[in-house]
Amino acid sequence: DPAVCAPLPVLGRDVTVPLVTGGEVTYAALDYAASAPALQRVWDDVAAYAPYYGSVHRGAGYLSQLSTDLFENARKTVAEFLGCREGDQVVFTRSTTDSLNLLAAALPADCQVFVFETEHHASLLPWRDARVTYLDAPRTHDEAVHTLERALADRDPSPSSQLRSSRGGPTGPALVCVTGASNVTGELWPVRELAAAAHAHGARIVLDAAQLAPHHPVDVRELDVDWIAFSGHKLYAPFGSGVLAGRADWLQGAEPYLAGGGASRKVARRADGGVDVEWHDTAARHEAGSPNVIGAYSIASACKALDEAGFDALVARERQLIGTVRAGLAAVPQVRVLSLFGDDAPRVGVISFVVDGWNSSHFAAALSAEYGIGVRDGLFCAHPLVRTLLGGESDEPGECGAPEAAPGERSLNAIRVSFGAGTPDEHVERFVRAVK
Ligand code: PMP
Repeated sequence: DPAVCAPLPVLGRDVTVPLVTGGEVTYAALDYAASAPALQRVWDDVAAYAPYYGSVHRGAGYLSQLSTDLFENARKTVAEFLGCREGDQVVFTRSTTDSLNLLAAALPADCQVFVFETEHHASLLPWRDARVTYLDAPRTHDEAVHTLERALADRDPSPSSQLRSSRGGPTGPALVCVTGASNVTGELWPVRELAAAAHAHGARIVLDAAQLAPHHPVDVRELDVDWIAFSGHKLYAPFGSGVLAGRADWLQGAEPYLAGGGASRKVARRADGGVDVEWHDTAARHEAGSPNVIGAYSIASACKALDEAGFDALVARERQLIGTVRAGLAAVPQVRVLSLFGDDAPRVGVISFVVDGWNSSHFAAALSAEYGIGVRDGLFCAHPLVRTLLGGESDEPGECGAPEAAPGERSLNAIRVSFGAGTPDEHVERFVRAVK
């Protein structure tokens, strides 16, 4: 077994919060799947750079040059972290949601999109202008692959495509969007196998790595995915930044995601009074406006910190924490852990559950008020999946929120505990004690 590392230093470890029972306690941040605390190392890097930041790609001054270098080097660091191929582009975005909406805006004409109903809304919803096939929730990895293969084999002929695949089927452009690790169950998805199935049927695949990248190495080449999207704030880097990385052709074949300065190489008035624009064919094409250099720099800093800590040691440590939490929950008969793929499925430190006789929102509120533990309750922006896992219909919830249920009624929402590289043993031990 690889050596287990110590928790990585993160911000907020000494924050104390009041308890309803009196006194105070250090805050146990167990909601990493929503936003992870920033690594101390990221904060230190940003603090060292902050006095010097300046405009990127827009100034001749020394500090502008410095910031431009840092921004472009951050792109290289992220490309290395993701094992990008020659010719791949790394676009800095605001978040995973932004990255997937950018890709959705860059789909070629007549593209058909395949997405499991189990996805986070950020992966489920951006494709609404395309022809979308929603795939039923699978109960095993094999079923996931077979479901996708069947759907791809049956796919509609693209109206404008004359091409035929070797299997005799139609081959218009197609995209599969899949998560690497579920933000509800923490379960890993068989990304490599799904990518192989997609490619065998002439489709491309984008990986939503929002929950995978903070916990596992993600290598574009090894997984053989065409694009990958993730968010800085779940990867221990704050500041509203995200990444879309992968194949350049669709991105460069599309109109810029945002039109404006930085995306355009040349703009000129035409004789007829209009305006002609030549857009960049680099990542800058989709990064109009002054870039978020601190956001990009903090993502690069987090990538370096995770690589230096070593994913073998991080995964080994997280496996211990998962074991503690799962054993603790299993010891309470009223607790039901939500799972698509069963107990033996490989997973990251994201675990959702319901407690018989408890309204999940009240339960989460009690963990906070009585124990200083921050978890999440609700439907986790994955309404179809949580409804499937809870085994029934729920009332209409608010945006990403939860409907109210009277105590003792069947749960209409769930509780999610999530943790990662900065989590000390004490936090998960306190959580287990509190649930008991
Ligand atoms: N995909 C998954 C699997 C997620 O967990 C999340 C965030 N909960 C997102 C996408 C969206 O990330 P963001 O809110 O940073 O855009």
